[in-house]
Amino acid sequence: MSKLDGRCLCGAVSYTSDAEPLFCAVCHCRNCQRQTGTAFSIVVAVPEDRFEVTGELSEHVTIGEDHGQPTRRRFCSGCGSPIVTVSESAPGVAIIKAGTLDDPSWLEPQLEVWCESAQPWVPQDPERTRLDRHPPQPA
Ligand SMILES: [Zn+2]
Ligand SMILES: [Zn+2]
Repeated sequence: MSKLDGRCLCGAVSYTSDAEPLFCAVCHCRNCQRQTGTAFSIVVAVPEDRFEVTGELSEHVTIGEDHGQPTRRRFCSGCGSPIVTVSESAPGVAIIKAGTLDDPSWLEPQLEVWCESAQPWVPQDPERTRLDRHPPQPA
């Protein structure tokens, strides 16, 4: 079993990855708030070619407000669990919605993004890097 094994709520979709995570972050953007129905997303990123899904995912595409690139949010059409996001603003990276991991206990976010739309009651941890919006584009 990999620490990056996970599944949706109904079990129709599962996934695994043997990669070491690239980063672990919290996203306070309005789209994540709407998609998850809660205050923020907790995500863990891996190389897209090391991320393997079993089952069928539906997709909703948004265009990033600041980078103008398509962002593809993939979810289980049976139960609606958000599973993974890929964005042309970060090619080759699969951003897993980490609440779907079988074991999320090891997660340790280093970064918080879109803090300008963070809900005001969410505590701010001074130990973590906080960005107002999207991380700078990789060159
Ligand atoms: Zn499902
Ligand atoms: Zn977000």
